[in-house]
Amino acid sequence: MSPPRLRFAPSPNGYLHLGHALSALVTWDAAYKLGGTASLRIEDIDLARCKPGFTEAIVEDLHWLGLTWPEPVLLQSDRFELYADAANSLRSADLLYPCFCTRTQISETATATDPDGAPLYPGTCRHLSNAERIERLERGDPVQFRLDTEAAQRRTGMLTYTRIGPSILDRPQIRYARPEWWGDVVVQRKDVPTSYHLSVVVDDAAQGISHVTRGRDLEAATDIHVLLQMLLGLPTPLYHFHRLLKDDAGEKLSKSRGSVSLRDYRAKGWTPEDVRRAVGF
Ligand code: GLU
Repeated sequence: MSPPRLRFAPSPNGYLHLGHALSALVTWDAAYKLGGTASLRIEDIDLARCKPGFTEAIVEDLHWLGLTWPEPVLLQSDRFELYADAANSLRSADLLYPCFCTRTQISETATATDPDGAPLYPGTCRHLSNAERIERLERGDPVQFRLDTEAAQRRTGMLTYTRIGPSILDRPQIRYARPEWWGDVVVQRKDVPTSYHLSVVVDDAAQGISHVTRGRDLEAATDIHVLLQMLLGLPTPLYHFHRLLKDDAGEKLSKSRGSVSLRDYRAKGWTPEDVRRAVGF
């Protein structure tokens, strides 16, 4: 059996904060305990928000924390063709449909929310006729492609995956995946021929990732990943979900909430040991 392979996969749309430090330290610690390796993957499919300067800062901050990884680092923005190929195979299997809805239309028509609390896509464009789809595509209307999740689940049947926790050395537990809670997720966005969900499953397989370590905020999304893996004939890794750091208001640390960056702490004189202590490591 080949040694375990893990990855830390931040998006370079801002500077790393303590939540990322925790996630990275969990990953490298798990790789160490399992006798495997941890690699860095840069999830930069969002070309408008991700900046090369943030990628450089991620590399610098992780090295400062004392972490190293095998080169080359995989950049998702180099891999759009591969993601498009994976999406095409879903399209050939009749599992994708074009969706022309705007965010506003979706929030005005949604009657439920997804596990992240966002408006649940009500399936509006699933019912468009072929003629209407062709007309709108030919007109050049902005289009995204969604998975027909119900049809996909009819093909795969009930899905399970293996979760390990709270410690990476604990006994694995079998979980049922419930992708239907996400409705028809976007597989190809309007701006790029992929989405977070598609890229993450393609790359975890391409990199031979055996154990995915990620925050509990991504536990529900794993159900979609397991469905996509099954549809694309990709292996399902083991999953380990770690705790999240909260701010004083009880919210998860995030760039959008302006959480203090590692480099700000460093500028204040913190050492890597101070960071480890602060994240309870
Ligand atoms: N890129 C994702 C994030 O920054 C994490 C990747 C994953 O574990 O799926 O939240």
